[in-house]
Amino acid sequence: MFLKIAIPRPLDRLFDYAYSNEEFGEVCIGDWVVVPFGRSKLTGCVIEISEEKPTLPEGVELKSVIQKISSDFSLPTEIVKICKFGSEYYQYPIGEAFFSAMPPSPEKDLSTRKSKATPTPPKKINLNEEQAAAVNSIEEKLNSGAVPVFLLEGVTGSGKSEVYIELAKKRLSQGNSVLILVPEIALTAQLKDRFEKSLGEPVALWHSALAEGLRQVQWKKIKTGEIRVVIGARSAVFAPMKDLGLIVVDEEHDQTYKQEERFRYQARDLAVYRGHVQKVPIVLGSATPSLESIQRVKEGRYQHLKLLKRYSGQMLPEIKLIHLNEELLVVHEKVKTPFAEKTIEIMQQTIDRGEQIIVYLNRRGFSQFILCQDCGWIKECPQCSITLTHYQRKNELKCHICGHQEKVPASCEQCGSYGLQGMGFGTESLEDELKILLPEAKVLRLDRDQITSQKRLEETLDGFRRGDANILIGTQMLVKGHDFAKVTCVVVVSADMLLRWPDFRATERALQTLIQVAGRAGRAELPGQVLIQGYDLEHPVIKVLRGEESQEQFIEDELMMRKELHYPPFSRFVRFRFFGKNEFELRKKIERMIEYLSGESETERSRLMGPSEALLFKANNDYRFDLYFKAPTIDALMKLSKKLKSMAQIEEIELVVDVDPYTS
Ligand SMILES: [Zn+2]
Ligand SMILES: [Zn+2]
Repeated sequence: MFLKIAIPRPLDRLFDYAYSNEEFGEVCIGDWVVVPFGRSKLTGCVIEISEEKPTLPEGVELKSVIQKISSDFSLPTEIVKICKFGSEYYQYPIGEAFFSAMPPSPEKDLSTRKSKATPTPPKKINLNEEQAAAVNSIEEKLNSGAVPVFLLEGVTGSGKSEVYIELAKKRLSQGNSVLILVPEIALTAQLKDRFEKSLGEPVALWHSALAEGLRQVQWKKIKTGEIRVVIGARSAVFAPMKDLGLIVVDEEHDQTYKQEERFRYQARDLAVYRGHVQKVPIVLGSATPSLESIQRVKEGRYQHLKLLKRYSGQMLPEIKLIHLNEELLVVHEKVKTPFAEKTIEIMQQTIDRGEQIIVYLNRRGFSQFILCQDCGWIKECPQCSITLTHYQRKNELKCHICGHQEKVPASCEQCGSYGLQGMGFGTESLEDELKILLPEAKVLRLDRDQITSQKRLEETLDGFRRGDANILIGTQMLVKGHDFAKVTCVVVVSADMLLRWPDFRATERALQTLIQVAGRAGRAELPGQVLIQGYDLEHPVIKVLRGEESQEQFIEDELMMRKELHYPPFSRFVRFRFFGKNEFELRKKIERMIEYLSGESETERSRLMGPSEALLFKANNDYRFDLYFKAPTIDALMKLSKKLKSMAQIEEIELVVDVDPYTS
């Protein structure tokens, strides 16, 4: 027999090996085998089997498989399909894509201890009318034989989890298994407990932080069907479920579903693909659905279900706008801090009442922009409709997508004011400032610099919940479903930084984030307030948040803009990022590559933008230039990608392709 094997090496191809049936027994697609590769031995996955000897280049000798790994670890065919599709679509080497789905160390058996699960009877849950209706319409659709994708839109506190649990129960009772994806592993422990109690059967947690032995044992149990419910972060999309009957993607809009390094897949999108391959229904849940999913609903490809009633009885917090062009900023040692006097006053009162505060900042922030301190005006790229990035040293504004650049204007183009100022600061400086402005307050900080492990994250969150600190400062991480009973005040330090992040998804994300952030303030007994600081608080996003404008209209407008400018969901957005030590040489090489492109249509040409400096232009002594491509079709994407990859190889520059990137 002759096999084509996916080898975990950064190469866009499969490798041929000979295989002896007499020696190792029958071989199937999805089996793992150990093969000689160069001077080492590697474990790869069998992708094709043939009786015909492959023709190899002159002088290349066909090598043989040296070991076949127990079929206990073989990948089910649907996982093989997902990996192949993922490698192609996300332009990632096939062997490395398979590596993502590989069970931990299949070469050795790590099952040392036996865990026994104590079965408990499933708990009955009471659904309200809306929840029951959602479950019913999903069930009806299923009984009709269709394999639909559902978008379950439910306001915070409307009880989406109960719907998931009820649907899971029904699938389990029919002998199927259930896969649930959640955006943040910090949330999985709470959910596991809840699902186990409600379903009355063991639930496996799936994430990369689990010990290897445990992961291996679990992998096998999931494959044999001994464990039928899996809750996990994005990599769980590769879990080898037996007789899969339902996939749930909770908080489907969340950008953590996109892997941002190595194999850059979007787990939600792969989950939808998996559902399609396995003919399994999918429920995408969110309080603030992504525009991608909303557009699919409009196209009639997804079914829309809504939960509009809050069932936990939580009150909506009061939203207070702090207009920074009118309020006084606190000055410390002659330097203005980012906090208004009014904000600090309210924070002090909250602390005095023994309640807690969350201070939210968009990101760690290496993006700078200029802003008019009188009217909040911000300069955007004329072509891309995204905020221009400010380069202080040269006093220039640049677009990091198309490369457009211009001098900083002397005065505001909207109101004529000379009060243009650079903006951009990080969580670390906020922590220092709060310690000075509120000297008695205890402050904790939660961001990726600070929190390097899962354990550290849980400790910080538990500490804050216990009341170890008055204030928790954080970025994206802290807005996800964490419940803090004593938090009654949330401070959004800079709405401008959130709204004006130089990304075409900035406003969509700002609304999603602000709704979630607001959800952290106040419980039934303690009313909450959200303080939003900013210069431009007339923005539609703020109006939607305050209920002054409809969310539907906002979505319509946003979709219209995306359509006009050919952004997703109306195209495939692709980033080609080139790395090099010499700035000028690198730029020249990229320009030369663009010149040599041929065969692209007029449309395709016009949708190629750049080269532009990456937002983080220089890192680890490498310069980074980006080309962006708004691909009209998947074929156009693949074609261009292939060409650029081979040219980059000839020019000897490193290229990383990111399809549907979420970060700048
Ligand atoms: Zn102005
Ligand atoms: Zn631009």
